[in-house]
Amino acid sequence: MSKILLVEDNEMNRDMLSRRLQRRGYEVVLAVDGQSGVEMAQTESPDLVLMDMSLPALDGWEATRRLKAVASTRHIPVIALTAHAMSGDREKALEAGCDDYDTKPVELVRLLGKIEALLSGFGGDIASARKPTA
Ligand SMILES: [Mg+2]
Repeated sequence: MSKILLVEDNEMNRDMLSRRLQRRGYEVVLAVDGQSGVEMAQTESPDLVLMDMSLPALDGWEATRRLKAVASTRHIPVIALTAHAMSGDREKALEAGCDDYDTKPVELVRLLGKIEALLSGFGGDIASARKPTA
């Protein structure tokens, strides 16, 4: 069973998404701000992180930068979640080290596709855009 760390400060979003992921067979651990998200990535060793970008304590961009700066968490795929598909968010996600990106409200089937792609090692949009085309 794959373990997903969901970092989300909005209680309703957190409860709804975690229940839907659990129903699909994922183990879900929760963090409510960026700082505890970074800490839990280290203590829980999740297989993947779903990172809201708008978070208290540390925002999702900075939390992702910290995860990607440390050898023990660098390998964990991070999918950025933002409320608005604002232009520039995708580039910011790439710069922060996110492996993929999706917008809220979450479309579960689309998000599950990105989760599965990263867990199976095929990478998401951003990860595959990074790879040199052979
Ligand atoms: Mg938020």
